[in-house]
Amino acid sequence: MASDFAQTVKEQADIVKIIGDYVRLKKAGAQNFTGLCPFHKEKTPSFSVHAGRQFFNCFGCHEHGDVFTFVQKIENVGFSEAVRSVAQKCGIPLPKREFSSPEEAAEHRQRGKLLELHEAATAWFEEQLRSPEGATAREYLTGRGLTADGIAKFRIGFAPDNFHALRQRLESLADVATLRLSGLFSWKEQEDGSPGPIYSRFRKRVMFPIANESGRVIAFTARTLETGEKAGPKYLNSPETPLYSKSHVLFNLDKARQAIRQDGGVILVEGQMDCISVFLAGIPNVIATSGTAFTEPQVRLLRRYATRVIVNFDPDTAGANAAEKSIALLTEEGFDVRVLTLPGGLDPDRFVRERGARAYAEALRASPSFQDYLVERARHLFPGRDPKSKTDALNFLLPHIRRIPSRIARDAFANDAAQALGIDSALVRAELKDAAARRRDSLGAQSHPLTHAERILLQAFSAPRSAECYLVAEGAWHQHETELGALRPDVHLIVEQLRARADDADPMTSVSDPAHRQMLAELFLSIHDTEPDAEAVDAAILAIRRQAIEHQQRELRVSIEKAERASNLDEALRLTRSLQDLTHRLRELDWS
Ligand SMILES: [Zn+2]
Repeated sequence: MASDFAQTVKEQADIVKIIGDYVRLKKAGAQNFTGLCPFHKEKTPSFSVHAGRQFFNCFGCHEHGDVFTFVQKIENVGFSEAVRSVAQKCGIPLPKREFSSPEEAAEHRQRGKLLELHEAATAWFEEQLRSPEGATAREYLTGRGLTADGIAKFRIGFAPDNFHALRQRLESLADVATLRLSGLFSWKEQEDGSPGPIYSRFRKRVMFPIANESGRVIAFTARTLETGEKAGPKYLNSPETPLYSKSHVLFNLDKARQAIRQDGGVILVEGQMDCISVFLAGIPNVIATSGTAFTEPQVRLLRRYATRVIVNFDPDTAGANAAEKSIALLTEEGFDVRVLTLPGGLDPDRFVRERGARAYAEALRASPSFQDYLVERARHLFPGRDPKSKTDALNFLLPHIRRIPSRIARDAFANDAAQALGIDSALVRAELKDAAARRRDSLGAQSHPLTHAERILLQAFSAPRSAECYLVAEGAWHQHETELGALRPDVHLIVEQLRARADDADPMTSVSDPAHRQMLAELFLSIHDTEPDAEAVDAAILAIRRQAIEHQQRELRVSIEKAERASNLDEALRLTRSLQDLTHRLRELDWS
């Protein structure tokens, strides 16, 4: 890229506006703006931007530079990419593109093609929704309270029960190799090991496009319209592609970012439908994880926009577990976190539809701090007043207390917890000190060893992607997402990171937490380097699902007792029915 072009861009760009897209800036002087540094963790702003001299500087971590340095650093791109990106933001036409290497040029072309394919697929799915074949899908969406406007706004579509129509629509746009990369198609391996013909991955499903921050569609979540054995997983996501990495994307961030930045706060929900309902009800600062728990890259992404988060996950066990994990990540990053559990066991989507946006806004305002939420949760999980229950409750809370970056906030939480549990606060402080001494950096790094099933699972996900054990584990992960969401948090996080790694990446380097790396290292050192066979993986998954269900049952029994004690018979009856469902599912597992 010609350097005089870079000069032109720099002269026309306003660094305050460009950085303001990533950091909430406040005016602090005639030409000076400050905000929370996006490059290091902090709670009071030490990051400034100078409008007159067009530079930024952080007094905390000493990052500094001009508008291009900033974009390079925050987007993790090279100089010419940064110049192009700034030019685009300022509406300056680009000179004919030059690439530093043929590979870079090819990669750029490929991304462009994949975006084009996703755009064409989105338009086609939208058309199919309007076609006669789309009637069931339209009924489903209407049944969930969506209007034509809402459907158009989120570009919701329908994938018909057809293996070839999408390929026929897209094959003039790209070669088969690119179509395979898009994640829109599947194929079977042939006898000679070569890939067979491609066919539509998504069939008979409602299609929810997932967009990147700038609103371009990069993936889909597809909800089945079938019921029963043939239906497959309820939600089927695009696989990881050169465009899409699940752990790096937040659903609806493209539409919500402006509102989030203005407000400084964001509502975090689990599902796309929850997010869409809340957004369409006129509460625009809402995003979804489109999975279970929050990931570190997602937290970092969010940190560019918000300082406050209200976590509003489903009120079931998987939701509560996901909420706990998300709270851990968010508090560690210094977010102000509150947790909303909606009454009546409702998820945000149903709550908004049944009780209206006003009631939802009120519930949001009344949502408790994460400290109060966690104390309440500890008492719910370990309701007894005997020493053993109190210790268990305290042990549940300690990792959360330890994670809080600010010492004052940590002590305050410890005192509150002690009071709520009826424990001497000096004891809690001693326990905290003790814990700090044998410091474990992570919420998940609990002292009990991995179970056999957990070891097999980690082994399988550490294997190469083409290995049979990996494929079996990956399939099960999709199919039983809810139950596997109840895995112990550290194992769950490691699996997510292993799954998100690049094809050829070493499993050890793809795990970010040192304690987790240690755990993997110990695992690898203790086994012979053979991969578990498919049967072993299946058995491990089954064992973990059993554990999850049994755990849920224990929780339910506690809740039933509590409801009965409170003479809330309706609730007790409802919970008993859920308990029966679980018993039934457990029996099904035994026969599968
Ligand atoms: Zn800094």
